[in-house]
Amino acid sequence: MMHAYFSDDQLRHHGKTFIVAGERKPIPEVPERAEILGGAVSRLGLALHAPGDFGIEPIAAIHDGKYLHFLQTIYPEWQAAGGSELVIPNIHPFDRNGPYPHHHVAKAGFHLGDTSCPVSETTWYSAYASAQTAIAAARHVRDASDASDASDVGDESANTAYALCRPPGHHASSNIAGGFCYLNNSAIAAQELRAKYDKVAILDIDLHHGNGTQHIFYDRADVMTLSIHADPCDFYPFYWGHAQERGIGAGFGFNHNYPLPLGSGDAVFLNALDQALAVIDDFNPGAVVIALGLDASHDDPFGGLTVSPDGFARIGEKIGALTCPIVLVQEGGYVSNLLAENLYQFINGFRVNHKNSPLSEGPE
Ligand SMILES: [Zn+2]
Repeated sequence: MMHAYFSDDQLRHHGKTFIVAGERKPIPEVPERAEILGGAVSRLGLALHAPGDFGIEPIAAIHDGKYLHFLQTIYPEWQAAGGSELVIPNIHPFDRNGPYPHHHVAKAGFHLGDTSCPVSETTWYSAYASAQTAIAAARHVRDASDASDASDVGDESANTAYALCRPPGHHASSNIAGGFCYLNNSAIAAQELRAKYDKVAILDIDLHHGNGTQHIFYDRADVMTLSIHADPCDFYPFYWGHAQERGIGAGFGFNHNYPLPLGSGDAVFLNALDQALAVIDDFNPGAVVIALGLDASHDDPFGGLTVSPDGFARIGEKIGALTCPIVLVQEGGYVSNLLAENLYQFINGFRVNHKNSPLSEGPE
């Protein structure tokens, strides 16, 4: 059976409020999401395994040291300076190439890209645990074909795993949080896979463009990034996610965006997915990370796209047809009547095709 990972520490973070078009609103990225998604995992007959603690090193392979220090220390620093209950930025630098600031308000503006990633007393613990969950799933897949236990061969357990990550990660760059994301779990998983595979692809199917992931790998040819999302001309994260963003330097041609008109449903989404999968096929990666957002659902409170549960089953089937090892990393998808159903349908569809795919032969 597919291995699934989750840590209870991931439930500790609760950002409470953020600002949308000037209005303070409750943050939809709540701990309850993980409980709902965990229910779908149980219904699929999968056990949730607690990840091991793999330490900071796999996280530091993606994230800047100053940023990791900031996430661990800004809350007590902010409190000692008489700051509010949550660390929320109110000023940002024109660019981040200048001298590193020492004031707590300046550091908050330097590392927090928007108001939707407040730092509370528990944020670091949950973000760290969420990253460990992604690492556990990536290592399970990465190390599977090296294991002596031959009983896994021929079933789905060795070459796929699901990381129930929360908080999500794909809006976080190497040194900037954003959009409910602190540590880029999908990027960390991809880098873990790179230890074995020369080429890895990250396919992001979240409603929102994976801007953090794109930024992290923008100049690299060894990790291809692809994202299908609501058109950023009209939707968060606005500044990134356009089709003309193709990568730079050695990474040119290794970033692919598929912006979809607001309100697009199954047919339009599946058509973009076919295009993205054809590009992945040409790239021929040793392993693939799916940044598995479920907020493209027609029932999601963000309301950007209108994918149905049947659509998620089809998306899962098409992705499951990839023959290489696959790590599923949970991204967005918010509390709604269909949240659990969408994950159930996706993984069910995925397993139909992926369970019979061959094990990787090992390093390329
Ligand atoms: Zn999203």
